[in-house]
Amino acid sequence: MLYEHLGVNELGHLTVGGVDTVQLAEEFGAPLYVLDEARLRANCRTYTQAFAAHFPEGSYPLFAGKSLCFKGLYPVLEEEGMGADVVSPGEIYTALAGGFPAQRLYFHGNNKTDEDLIYALESGVGHFIVDNHSELERLNQFAGERDIRQKVLLRVTPGIDPHTLQAINTGRIDCQFGVPIETGQAARFVAAALSMENLEVEGFHSHIGSQIFEAEPFCDAVDILLEFAQEMRQAHGFVVQVLNLGGGFGVRYLESDPVVDIPGNIKALAEHLRQGCQEKDYPLPRVLLEPGRSIVADAGLTLYRVGGIKTIEGYRSYVTVNGGMTDNPRYALYQAPYTVLPADRMNDPRDFVCTVAGRCCESGDLIQENISLPRANRGDLLAVLTTGAYNFTMASNYNRLCRPALVMVRDGKARLAVRRQTFEDLVACDL
Ligand code: PLP
Repeated sequence: MLYEHLGVNELGHLTVGGVDTVQLAEEFGAPLYVLDEARLRANCRTYTQAFAAHFPEGSYPLFAGKSLCFKGLYPVLEEEGMGADVVSPGEIYTALAGGFPAQRLYFHGNNKTDEDLIYALESGVGHFIVDNHSELERLNQFAGERDIRQKVLLRVTPGIDPHTLQAINTGRIDCQFGVPIETGQAARFVAAALSMENLEVEGFHSHIGSQIFEAEPFCDAVDILLEFAQEMRQAHGFVVQVLNLGGGFGVRYLESDPVVDIPGNIKALAEHLRQGCQEKDYPLPRVLLEPGRSIVADAGLTLYRVGGIKTIEGYRSYVTVNGGMTDNPRYALYQAPYTVLPADRMNDPRDFVCTVAGRCCESGDLIQENISLPRANRGDLLAVLTTGAYNFTMASNYNRLCRPALVMVRDGKARLAVRRQTFEDLVACDL
């Protein structure tokens, strides 16, 4: 089995966190997002413990809300000692509604509107991660008007390509996020930021990409950031207090994916940083990382009911399910790999090669192609693993499908955390 929090019970049913997935689908319906709270907490602790062991005091991981965001998640994150990164007023609102302290929020975004800036300032968001000059100026103005001295990090792009999918690779120079170091623009960005009287520049942020399996690309980013920090110290006497290295450690979607040694990677990164600082005689900064996927992806799975099989003779067989790109657009977007299991027939031979298709009126609406399952029947239950990240948050109402419910399982019990949408919800904003 891909993960140890999954199991198979005496009925041959897949279990998650000790709960029978067949019972979950019967009680809460399908499609259904399921999140294992113990796994979520364990993933948080992997980071918080490695941070405590290797990074200077005051360093902590920030959970990237873009990967998963609902009210009930935030009390868990707070209890686990996480900070949180948010990318929109909607994410800020959700975190605050979940009781998360505003001071531990870091506000991202390459196009924060005036309304966004004011909302975040007035909500007491601890840090803004400033993306560009115009944001710098507006934020300085709005902070001054409110008598706030706002802490900020400056988003810079180190020009690293961690060899991941183009769509989830943001550290290279030609991208819409942050200000590049190599072109000299980041130096001007820092000079401008330091001249803003209502902003307190604490340091830099960079995010190089996602699904990164080793420390090496982060170490490369550290080298570039430290070199840049050194230049900025020489030019302005400015010393970086905080280095935020973004998100991106990978997860296993398939048995064949490598196991990521997150504590080992954090240790290697911390040693690299310490050595780099020593060589440059630079004070060791506090470190932040922004993991999303590696906190929630493997804690989640999605349950679907099979509608039937359609065999296109001479071509292939489709197994259709009652969800699809509306609850998980990642295969349609970039052929993301997933492991699909026959949740109610785990002991049956998987000798039927098929493509799992969603129910949307869109030929690209596939969940996975050419996988092996038992020959499916209408009403069977399928589980797609590792859907805790970038599924719920990327869901849509395409074809006016209602978004699924989300349940959290813990100690063998399940509780509804987000209810299923209703038809009334679908027309709630229609006038
Ligand atoms: N931080 C930033 C700025 C990001 O853009 C992303 C993802 O795109 C993350 C953090 C989270 O990355 P991941 O979910 O791969 O850990």
